[in-house]
Amino acid sequence: MNIKNYINGKFVNPIQNQWIDNYNPSVGEVYGQIPNSTQEDVEKAYQSAKEAFPAWSNTTLAERSKILSNIARLIEQKLAILAEAEAKDNGKPLSLAKAIDIPRASSNFQFFADAITQFSSEAHESVGLGAMNFTLRQPIGVVGCISPWNLPLYLFTWKIAPAIAAGNCVVAKPSEVTPMTAYLLGEICNEAGLPKGVLNIVHGLGTTTGQAIVEHPNIKAISFTGGTKTGAHIARVAAPMFKKLSLELGGKNPNIIFADCNYEDMLATTVRSSFANQGQICLCGSRIFVEQSIYEKFKKDFVQKVSELKIGNPFEVDTNIGALVSKQHLEKVKSYIDIVEQEGGKILQGGNKVEVKGSEKGYYLQPTVIEVKSNQCKLNQEEIFGPVVTIMPFTSEEEVLAMANDVTYGLSSTLWTNNLQRTMRMSKNLHTGIVWVNTWLLRDLRTPFGGQKASGVGREGGFEALRFFTEPKNVCIKYE
Ligand code: NDP
Repeated sequence: MNIKNYINGKFVNPIQNQWIDNYNPSVGEVYGQIPNSTQEDVEKAYQSAKEAFPAWSNTTLAERSKILSNIARLIEQKLAILAEAEAKDNGKPLSLAKAIDIPRASSNFQFFADAITQFSSEAHESVGLGAMNFTLRQPIGVVGCISPWNLPLYLFTWKIAPAIAAGNCVVAKPSEVTPMTAYLLGEICNEAGLPKGVLNIVHGLGTTTGQAIVEHPNIKAISFTGGTKTGAHIARVAAPMFKKLSLELGGKNPNIIFADCNYEDMLATTVRSSFANQGQICLCGSRIFVEQSIYEKFKKDFVQKVSELKIGNPFEVDTNIGALVSKQHLEKVKSYIDIVEQEGGKILQGGNKVEVKGSEKGYYLQPTVIEVKSNQCKLNQEEIFGPVVTIMPFTSEEEVLAMANDVTYGLSSTLWTNNLQRTMRMSKNLHTGIVWVNTWLLRDLRTPFGGQKASGVGREGGFEALRFFTEPKNVCIKYE
């Protein structure tokens, strides 16, 4: 299966006719090829977006909203095909793609179809000076959207939907590791009546195709989700060109469990927040801190529950843990398990690669629980981004707060307690962009989404995203 670039509403081969193998991680085999696009392809995509911009930015909000709703509806209608494509490309359980990834991609379009009709700007009267100011919020022009492999269509559309809702035209690149649903999105956009050139999708490597988008002098804003190192690199390239930047980066999120929580709810959710999508969600709680009084009980119960998770081919209905996304990523995650002893830790559960019957060459790893002695070890400080969590006890609120914050990242945190005063104190003092209390991954798309510290710059979600994708201009009218 050869995937093509989607430029000016058409599916085209890369200009240099160079291709990259695309793997199915659950069986460890190549199943197709994708364009290895160069700067020339990005230029072609840019030109197409530039031509589409005058008409699209002047299209009524009602019409834009209708087209975005059409895209949302078509994604919903094609849920089965899209979910299968996602599971095959990424290795995630089909059940997860059906329940989370694809419905959310549809919601992203529907949400911004509605949000753009409610978006407004401010007015400021200069009292006594006889002047009125109002803020014009205009689309930026051609913008770049670059997304990672862990939630492929979910995160790709989370950027594209607000960008086009606000009247921009887009040059977008999905991860080269998971290109399939982005390719299918092109077909959906044509069917939904999106004018040609409003969205252009170029496939290829981050270091060439992605880099060409970031370096392009006339692509005025970059919305990027991916690793912290790549984000820092993108910031270095884009900052001297004064591009608008939204960076959603890595995490090393604390999951803080107090003895007064609803234990059963916490336990079930903690299994999910640790291992959903093979632990490959930037919001997974990878550092679990448990109050000393319930530590031994939690340790026993958690390990028991994790040992019951079924690792298997993503297409089997009872699979809980599918394949990791690539061989290279599997080796990276495993390299952390290999240093457990040296870092003073102890494996309580898992730790090994798994040969799944009938899919022996797939990239499977047991969900792994490691007991650590200190928050300072590499296992607690570096983002592993796989089915690996650490656990350790704490004795006081002050101690756990200090450990939770003692990390370079600041994306999300989870807090389990029924004490209201503690909830408020901790929520105010945790250095993360999101605090979940007695829940995890409960998302209301109107809320600001993003991280502090090395987890990023800026916020996505709701009107924050529409603000990012528009340029505010103050118009001052003197009337007296
Ligand atoms: P990467 O940073 O490797 O890649 C992200 C995207 O950037 C991919 O499309 C990649 O292309 C591209 N890219 C790589 N190099 C460049 C470059 N020089 N210029 C422009 N684009 C480039 O991240 P991963 O794909 O490995 O994703 C995992 C990371 O994403 C984790 O750190 C995770 O925490 C983070 N993440 C953050 C989220 C958040 O909301 N904060 C949500 C989800 C994930 P290619 O893949 O083709 O190399």
